[in-house]
Amino acid sequence: MDLGIAGKWALVCGASKGLGYGCALALVREGVNVLIVARGADALQAASERLLAEPLRAAEVQVQSVAADITTAEGRAAVFAVRKDFDIIVTNAGGPPPGDFRDWDRDTWVKALDANMLTPIELIKGAVDGMAARGFGRIVNITSSSVKAPIDVLGLSNGARSGLTGFVAGVARTTKLASANVTINNLLPGVFDTDRIRATVEGAARKTGQSVESVIEARKQNVPARRLGTPEEFGAACAFLCSQQASYITGQNILTDGGAYPGTH
Ligand code: NAD
Repeated sequence: MDLGIAGKWALVCGASKGLGYGCALALVREGVNVLIVARGADALQAASERLLAEPLRAAEVQVQSVAADITTAEGRAAVFAVRKDFDIIVTNAGGPPPGDFRDWDRDTWVKALDANMLTPIELIKGAVDGMAARGFGRIVNITSSSVKAPIDVLGLSNGARSGLTGFVAGVARTTKLASANVTINNLLPGVFDTDRIRATVEGAARKTGQSVESVIEARKQNVPARRLGTPEEFGAACAFLCSQQASYITGQNILTDGGAYPGTH
């Protein structure tokens, strides 16, 4: 299917690897120009080269990169100094660490809120009115299946992402945006095979004395699909939400979790 977005410009955050990279890859394959952001310049450069090595439409596609911390005002200013008129924005940053809420002080909470709630809101604020004026806009926020099924040790993530989810539910439904073909949706990953998950699993394996492979196997057994998701298929779902065809989908929380969430809504 041609998603009808070739030639558009996308900002993809947290895109040097993992789910953000998967989204950038799917968009580039659709002929979308991308500006990718991550903190580490070397990993970002390697990601740009991999994207430009894509066989299909790479010759026409532009890949720009900005090495910045997207959760800071300076980082966002550095991005918007390069380009302002994005047609598509994929918001993403690392998730907050697990822990016991008794150990978290105000600064810990503010950091989580900055990364997983206020940064996406700032990016939305900076982009949607321009998108509405041009009659096309797609925002996809990478959140987590834990928004629907909170995980006890991920209280920082549960709290910050729920705040974003509530905000998006309201703003996406404003007539000014929805009637101007600007959509805002959240894409909720279950368990995906990325460096982040590998790092979490290694921690669990060390604590319990199990091998990394047996912890991964146990994670798979909790998923009806009996496997971890791939960044590539996550990216494909993201690209569809960014497509012309998805213009009637807004304000939604869409799970990509191999059937792990057991509820009907
Ligand atoms: P990852 O660690 O594999 O990749 C994260 C990417 O974001 C990297 O490119 C990193 O450089 C970049 N990044 C991190 N913090 C940044 C910042 N402040 N500014 C700019 N770039 C930054 O992680 P992932 O598995 O792709 O996860 C992406 C998001 O999805 C995270 O918020 C994570 O909590 C969430 N999530 C992931 C899973 C999963 O199974 N992988 C499940 C649920 C939620």
